[in-house]
Amino acid sequence: GSARRCLRLEPAAAREVLGAADTLLFDCDGVLWRGDAAVAGAPAVLSRLQARAKRLCYVTNNSSRTRDAYAEKLRRLGFPPAEPRQVFGSAYCAARYLSRALPPDAAAYVLGSAALSAELRAVGVPHLGPGPAALPGPGPADWSRAPLDPAVRAVLVGFDEHFCYAKLCQALRYLQRGGPDCLLVGTNRDHRLPLEGGATIPGTGCLVKAVEMAAEREAFIIGKPSRYIFDCVASEFKIEPARTIMVGDRLDTDILMGNNCGLTTLLTLTGVTTLEEVKGHQESDCPSRKSLVPDYYVDSIADLLPALED
Ligand code: PLP
Ligand code: CA
Repeated sequence: GSARRCLRLEPAAAREVLGAADTLLFDCDGVLWRGDAAVAGAPAVLSRLQARAKRLCYVTNNSSRTRDAYAEKLRRLGFPPAEPRQVFGSAYCAARYLSRALPPDAAAYVLGSAALSAELRAVGVPHLGPGPAALPGPGPADWSRAPLDPAVRAVLVGFDEHFCYAKLCQALRYLQRGGPDCLLVGTNRDHRLPLEGGATIPGTGCLVKAVEMAAEREAFIIGKPSRYIFDCVASEFKIEPARTIMVGDRLDTDILMGNNCGLTTLLTLTGVTTLEEVKGHQESDCPSRKSLVPDYYVDSIADLLPALED
């Protein structure tokens, strides 16, 4: 395998690497902001990149916000203005996938948020399911007799704070009824979500796994590290992988997708990853661990500012 080495991106090298790129793909949480606070200096860096005519796109596995909501958050936190079409969230990309993969008038059974529902509506995919489960009776025996919508030809699993056993039953029943003709799609496999202050909560991957386990089949995954979310970017904009930088804070999503798609990869340490983890992968002989090693790292994307001064 290739001997991947992760180098700290110092200002001189940063000038060269940024100069050779025409597009930057930014992961959001952990790179541009943490929770509701912008990473110090990040808005200034993105403004400079935009002033240098770099194309900026935002690629996030979070399925609980729409593209419009991301554009609004970027604006609110002082980032340069972004069009919704520059935002590739796993909710929008899942809706886009189903709008192409489903036969006309077919519907999706959705475990997910209001935002996922809004993105499906925007591309015209009929769907049911978001929100608290409507329980047809007091126990599991009743749930297994709940009505099934005859139009459903896909089960879509995203971040669902109302996830419950009754929904899992319903998802399995649709998948069993449709067999291989019923699509099973997951927005992403992130196993945990970091909260402010170091706590973590279970991520969407836990919900996808539950449905996969019940259905005895694997879901098609939309978000990073899947190539599908990158293909969405490349179908919207003219992307040359060799001139594109993926900036992320997570190795098994952001960096793996970037490496698999031939992009230059840049890790920031403002999110969930430590340099020790990178070193562990780098020193390993296992090829699948090597593909988690980024080309470069910075402590924060604010460290790119000196390379963008005239
Ligand atoms: N999924 C959910 C539900 C989230 O809230 C988040 C981060 O806030 C993520 C995934 C990870 O998002 P990103 O890919 O922008 O780091
Ligand atoms: Ca992140």
